[in-house]
This record gives sequence, structure tokens and C-alpha cells, in this order.
Amino acid sequence: RAKTDGRSVFRMFESRMDSEARERRLLENELTEAVGKDQLVLHYQPLVDAETGAPTGFEALVRWNHPVRGLIPPAEFIPLAEQSHLIIAIGDWTIHQACLAATQWPEHLTVAVNLSARHFRQSDIGVVVNAALAQSGLKPNRLEIEITEGLLIEEPEAVVEKLQQLRALGVTIAMDDFGTGYSSLGYLLKFPFDKIKIDRSFVEASAKDSVARDILRAIATLGKILKVKITAEGVETAEQAAFLSEIACHQLQGFYFARPLDPRDMPHYLLSTVPTRAPDVAEEARRA
Ligand code: C2E
Ligand code: MG
Ligand code: MG
Ligand code: MG
Repeated sequence: RAKTDGRSVFRMFESRMDSEARERRLLENELTEAVGKDQLVLHYQPLVDAETGAPTGFEALVRWNHPVRGLIPPAEFIPLAEQSHLIIAIGDWTIHQACLAATQWPEHLTVAVNLSARHFRQSDIGVVVNAALAQSGLKPNRLEIEITEGLLIEEPEAVVEKLQQLRALGVTIAMDDFGTGYSSLGYLLKFPFDKIKIDRSFVEASAKDSVARDILRAIATLGKILKVKITAEGVETAEQAAFLSEIACHQLQGFYFARPLDPRDMPHYLLSTVPTRAPDVAEEARRA
């Protein structure tokens, strides 16, 4: 009895594996066509100046607008894309699309693009980025590339060379999700970063945990020493925002300020938050 039970459990397990694998293959096939079918879309989440709260730019965050499943978040298809060459097609599309979108925004606003480590390694990323800048006409200093620490583990020399190529174009490099990965301080010295984005787990913990607040202070100090800008992500409350600006983070990003915006909502957001003319200096002097 025990034996047959065991076997039927095994068969159930086997068929579940089958259907999961089938499901994944289906999604993979659909994803292959998604780029050509215009099903990918970038949403844009504002980054704001920690002192003034005014937007300094946006991070482009990809979604898959699936005809049946609706809007699929990146966590559900980027890892799949990373298992094949698909990540290159998606990454190329993302960079081009983000640059193009930013040309429609006021000149002082930047656009940040997340680059997958696999895309970065497998392609001639300097050429890809240069092409996106040339075709869109976006000024290089308005483009920011976000990479994660995972990229830095293998073949660090090759990575440094590519990062330097990007910087030579005039593009800004940010280290994303700082503090979650291998976070070696050595990386910060070895790699040419302009910006550190502190992972939201530290921000989240900061409300209750004084050690988390001390770590945030330490990262802000590190930023000063290394002369890199510090951005905090995942800011959800006024208290978090106040603390982070008090410890001199440069930029803040999170639901407290804005969720990632559907591109159709961008014109309205830009009109309502970004002054269309230079601030009135005389008026500001009177108020001071
Ligand atoms: P990330 O680059 O760290 O992006 C921040 C993520 O945190 C976004 O999730 C954003 O919606 C979310 N977020 C922002 N503010 C808050 C907040 O206040 N609270 C909470 N709980 N979450 C917040 P999203 O859009 O689901 O993206 C998840 C990750 O997927 C990104 O993390 C990034 O690693 C990756 N990703 C997104 N777009 C792309 C892309 O175009 N290419 C690649 N390779 N990866 C991407
Ligand atoms: Mg990011
Ligand atoms: Mg991040
Ligand atoms: Mg993150």
C-alpha cells in the first residue's frame, strides 16, 4: 500500500512539474513575441530632490502588458528572459524606449534604466547605449544606468572597462539595491560609480530599528567620502523622508512621493509638479 501511495504521490508531483515546465515554456514563447508585438511598456517612477521634494528624474520600470494576463511585473518575466538571449532584445528595447521618452520631458530631468547583468556582459553595451543616445537625440548626461552588485563578482576587469566606456559617453552609473548583495566596500573603490541607491529594506527597517538608522547614516557618510550621490529607494512615509533628508541623502524615491506612473499619466504629472518657468528669485528672496 505504502508503495502504491508513494508512486501516486510521485506521479502527481511529476505531472505538476510537467505543467509548471509547460507553463514556463508557453510564457517564454509568448515573451519572445512580446517585444515585436509592442506588449512591453515602461512605467516611470519619480526621483525627487531630498531637500526640495522636486522631481529630478524618473526610473524606467518595465512591465509586460500581456493580452490575457494583464500587466505582469518585471520580477515575473525578467528572470525568465535572463535565461536566454531574450534579455538582450528586452534590454535594447528598454534603453531605446527610455531615451526616447525622456526627450519629451523638460531638459533638467534624467531617466534611469535598469540593466541586467547578463545583458551588460553579453552585449557591447557601450555601442548599444551610444546608439540609443544618437537615435533619440538625448543628451548623455540625462541618462543613468542602474546595475546591481551581482554584476561585479565575475570578471571584474571586463566590467570596469565597460563601465568606463559608458562614463566616457557622459552617462551616469548607479549601483542599485546597495546593501543587499555582496556589498563589498572594495567594489565601491574599484568601480566607477556616480551614485549609490540604498535598498529599500534599510529604509523600511529604519522606522523601528536604530541599527538600521545608524547603517543609513554610515552609508550617507560613505557617500560623502567617496563623493558619490546617495539615493534612498522605497520611501513610504513622511517620517522616513524626513530622516533620510536629515542625514543628507541627495535623492528619494518611493510610494510616499509617487508610484511608478503609466506613460499616459506622465504629461499630467509633469505639468502639475514641474515648474514651466525658472523659479522667481525675487519672490524666493522675499520669502526667505
Ligand atoms: P529596482 O530597480 O530596485 O526598482 C524598484 C522597485 O521597487 C520597483 O518595482 C518599484 O515599483 C518598487 N518600489 C518603488 N518605491 C517603492 C516603495 O515605496 N515601496 C515598495 N514596497 N516598493 C517600491 P518593480 O517595478 O516591480 O521592479 C522590480 C525590479 O525589477 C527592479 O528593482 C529591477 O531590479 C527590475 N526591473 C525593473 N525594470 C527593469 C528593466 O527594464 N530591466 C531590468 N533588467 N530589470 C528591471
Ligand atoms: Mg533600479
Ligand atoms: Mg533599486
Ligand atoms: Mg530594489
